Amino acid sequence: MAELNETHDPALSSWVDSANGGASDFPVQNLPFGVFRRLGSQEAWRGGVAIGDQILDLGAAHAAGVFSAESARAAAACTQTSLNAYMAMGPAAWSALRLALSRALRKGSAQTERLRGCLVAQAQAEYAVPARIGDYTDFYTSIHHATSVGRLYRPDHPLLPNYKWVPIGYHGRASSIGVSGLGYARPRGQILRAGATAPELAPSERMDYELEIAVFIGRGNELGRPIPVAQAESHVFGLALFNDWSARDFQSWEYQPLGPFLSKNFASTLSPWIVTMEALAPYRKAWTRPPEDPQPLPYLDAPGLRETGAIDIELEVLLQTRRMREAGLAPARVSLGNFADSYWTVSQLVAHHTVNGCNLQSGDLLGSGTQSGPLPQQAGSLLELSRNGQQAISLPDGQTRRFLEDGDAVFMRGWCSRPGAARIGFGDCVGTLLPADPS
Ligand code: MN
Repeated sequence: MAELNETHDPALSSWVDSANGGASDFPVQNLPFGVFRRLGSQEAWRGGVAIGDQILDLGAAHAAGVFSAESARAAAACTQTSLNAYMAMGPAAWSALRLALSRALRKGSAQTERLRGCLVAQAQAEYAVPARIGDYTDFYTSIHHATSVGRLYRPDHPLLPNYKWVPIGYHGRASSIGVSGLGYARPRGQILRAGATAPELAPSERMDYELEIAVFIGRGNELGRPIPVAQAESHVFGLALFNDWSARDFQSWEYQPLGPFLSKNFASTLSPWIVTMEALAPYRKAWTRPPEDPQPLPYLDAPGLRETGAIDIELEVLLQTRRMREAGLAPARVSLGNFADSYWTVSQLVAHHTVNGCNLQSGDLLGSGTQSGPLPQQAGSLLELSRNGQQAISLPDGQTRRFLEDGDAVFMRGWCSRPGAARIGFGDCVGTLLPADPS
């Protein structure tokens, strides 16, 4: 786990004024990485760091000569169209660049004038998926989600016997992962309607979102060389927000015996910014396993994990229907949970994924699975909030929802705060459901 250092000091402020005062997701203590260019331009995609309502263009800053030695090599790697090369450099390089950025962006920095010309307003930027994602694995780490979904499908035995031993996952599809701001046509697929004896091909009628944390792998491992749980976090570059759009009607028909397929692979939405593991260091929590539950096998357990394995990230989902948008109404909260309620930690996912020798590569993405807490209002999907469509949820303008309707925009937000530390956030992860394309 990353150590606390001067970059986490809550007293730091930035010469970029919008980063100060606690309202921005991106104070100088955060410094998340993304890939951007000026909106509507044909400029090359390149790496940047969010600071307040601005982006520091890392290529321009590198050219301005504000970095030296290791931080300069690290910043040079960020000038490419994806962050894979930077992510592959490992924790020493990531820390060196973070420290250099923190010193350059804080109030009083001698670099202030040289860096002013390297800022691009976030409102005038567009984003790309920050890494070339070679492989994407989706886990199922919320026991509350697994239990309440299991109860809907198998009331007599909601949680399968392997759940408390194995971090359950499946291999997903990377090609359809997009970045925040996009719209997606309602997908078509096979639906078996209640009482019918044969399925038909139709647009999904049970469109849902899944609130997840995305884990970006930094350094990979060689084929045949598992990553021990105690070293797992040194292979993780950082976390983002992730909406794993799901068609529940396709899913319930297709998921046995091999798991989800076309119900999940038509779209997923990532937030533009990756918050690094070092930035998350102040918000770590003890990870516990209830004493009445089986304790993890030794390859999934370590003393450090028990002390600081969990991460305290508040996770919020908001909906804005087309009608709300037209009436100028803000998105409305439908759930608020916390990543610390996850049954398995990030390091356990990495250790389990590689225990058989499977090789992870820089830029690989692990989805946490839907994050739901123990309370009903902490559920990270409409499937749970509406109890599989049996009970509509109400929105502030009087509309109701069981599943998503055309024009609905799903907002996901995440943030960390605790006394003695700055509040940092992930930025918005937004996607809009569009009508099905004409068949
Ligand atoms: Mn998922």
